[in-house]
Amino acid sequence: MFCPKCGSLLLPKKEGSKKVLMCSCGYKSSNVEQTKITETVTKKEKDVEVIEKEVNVLPKIKEKCEKCGHDTAFYWTMQTRAGDEPETKFLRCEKCKHTWRDYD
Ligand SMILES: [Zn+2]
Ligand SMILES: [Zn+2]
Repeated sequence: MFCPKCGSLLLPKKEGSKKVLMCSCGYKSSNVEQTKITETVTKKEKDVEVIEKEVNVLPKIKEKCEKCGHDTAFYWTMQTRAGDEPETKFLRCEKCKHTWRDYD
């Protein structure tokens, strides 16, 4: 969102329970983007859903489950934080579905 008056980037600010977009020139917009938080949550849920669905086609490796002792687990990698962070490897026991992270 940019300021219609001077073209600068508008900064979100809290005004009581309302969120407004403010510009350094004094311009204030009440055109609130309240969907931001909801969007993030929805995206997270979708990611989980994808994993649940696709787990059966994931590659398997020999890895011992600390919970049930089974020796085969599904694995996948996921970018958990910012792009410059290394990918995190996740493992899920084929038998008991116990899921854990693998830190190299
Ligand atoms: Zn402005
Ligand atoms: Zn297990």
